[in-house]
Amino acid sequence: MKTVFISNPECNKHINPIGHPEQVLRLKTIISTLNSDSFSNLHKKKAEIGSFQDVLSLHSKDHLDLIIEKSTHLEQSNLDADTIVNRDSLPAALYGIGSVKQAIDLVMGGEAKNAFCATRPPGHHAERNKAMGFCIFGNVAIGAKYALSHKSISKVAILDFDVHHGNGTQNLIWNEKNILFISSHQMPLFPGSGYSDETGAFNNILNVPLRSGTDGSHYLKVMDETILPKIENFSPDIILLSAGFDAHKNDPLANLNWLSEDYYKITQKMCFVAEKLCKKRMVSSLEGGYNLSALGESVAFHVKALMEG
Ligand SMILES: [Zn+2]
Repeated sequence: MKTVFISNPECNKHINPIGHPEQVLRLKTIISTLNSDSFSNLHKKKAEIGSFQDVLSLHSKDHLDLIIEKSTHLEQSNLDADTIVNRDSLPAALYGIGSVKQAIDLVMGGEAKNAFCATRPPGHHAERNKAMGFCIFGNVAIGAKYALSHKSISKVAILDFDVHHGNGTQNLIWNEKNILFISSHQMPLFPGSGYSDETGAFNNILNVPLRSGTDGSHYLKVMDETILPKIENFSPDIILLSAGFDAHKNDPLANLNWLSEDYYKITQKMCFVAEKLCKKRMVSSLEGGYNLSALGESVAFHVKALMEG
């Protein structure tokens, strides 16, 4: 069965100021990487747009109204020090939600075994009532909530391996007993949350803080000893990945020491667990990753493992 790649050029109309790490070239790099001959078997689709109703499945009406209001202005608005909205940011963010929903439908309909969605802005820092850390809406959390509307899905597991804590996803699914959220992240680091005693209302959250300098082989051990047993014990019907590539040793925003090929091994482990637990169903969605050549290489390894999985 196929691996699907989902994106939309409209996402690149969301433009951050010059020098901002979350830039248009990130998506361009990923798309040119996945257009090479080695990915000719990848099935490419244009992302559909998400709806306001999707946003309101987990975010407050005040938050949606603020984003709508800010995105009517010609000039860009700062929602925090580094989260910017311009006229085209609202559709871009809605394509992020739509792509994850579409990928879930394709996987559940048997048209694909797994999928990688590459959209911008990213989502895992956006909280119920707050945009932050380059993120506007919680794409993956909303995707998990949407997945539960499928009759054959009663439980969803999310692994967030971005180098930053997925505080937004944690905030959005805190009270969702059928969604397991696992975040591994460098600590201390932005946003400052993600301690191991933050466990959710139903013990449905596992935070795995990592020390500065942690390399990929140590992380693979942490997966075997802590992360994979938690997922197996939960026994999800589908797995979602918040795929950030900023734990790479060359990333400018953090200090972990993962190599590009570590993303192959991490993804391969997740494919094994998805095969064992949930008929290989897995949907991955881009979060961070700010060194362009490291991002391109790491995504190539990630998608190669998804295609082989
Ligand atoms: Zn990040």
